[in-house]
Amino acid sequence: MKTIGMLGGMSWESTSVYYRMINEATKRALGGFHSAPIAMVSVDFAEIEELQQRCDWTASADLLSVNARQIEAAGAELLLICTNTMHKVADEIAAAVKIPLLHIADATASRIIAAGYSKVGLLGTRFTMEEKFYSGRLEQLGLEVLTPNEADRILIHRVIYEELCMGEIRDDSRRDFVSIIDRLSDAGAECVVEGCTEITMLVGPDDVRVPLFDTTAIHAEEAVAMALQ
Ligand code: GLU
Repeated sequence: MKTIGMLGGMSWESTSVYYRMINEATKRALGGFHSAPIAMVSVDFAEIEELQQRCDWTASADLLSVNARQIEAAGAELLLICTNTMHKVADEIAAAVKIPLLHIADATASRIIAAGYSKVGLLGTRFTMEEKFYSGRLEQLGLEVLTPNEADRILIHRVIYEELCMGEIRDDSRRDFVSIIDRLSDAGAECVVEGCTEITMLVGPDDVRVPLFDTTAIHAEEAVAMALQ
């Protein structure tokens, strides 16, 4: 099995979920005592979050590219950027290393298309919902993307940073997310992408009436499949 490179810590709350999911998928595939060979760099999210607020994407790309090279030097044979939002600088990070990058939106789009859906709702940070780097990629792969209205986008963004990235899981926020997902479904979304790696901690398939595509689980499972090829 190839060594999986994880560029994590954004936030560490979701990276710990990724770590568990990668090892669970490896155990399912190989059995026994098998676990995944992983090389990880976990960043200080405070630095990244500050750069996000300043929209200093050049500095973010430079910083994360250094980390990606460290992961490659540690023996990783493929790379995961363990956050949807920082795929905003995925091209720069991919160019900094020789190992392949498994893009989270590509992995997610493949699953959605294989399941036969074409119109998706997208939840994530405001960067992910409002800029083209993510929805544009889904659209290029043939999907139609619906995003929540502005008030809902502000609420989702706030809950991600002020609660989920802090490890706080609240029932009232879950209810808010479920209402937002219902509105996306009423507007025609056949399924919803949890396009933020922390949302899986808040909303699961049993909470909603539309199929959910959990980017953390999909990215972790596809990484294991790629590492086993
Ligand atoms: N982990 C989140 C995501 O998947 C948000 C935190 C970040 O800004 O990286 O987008």
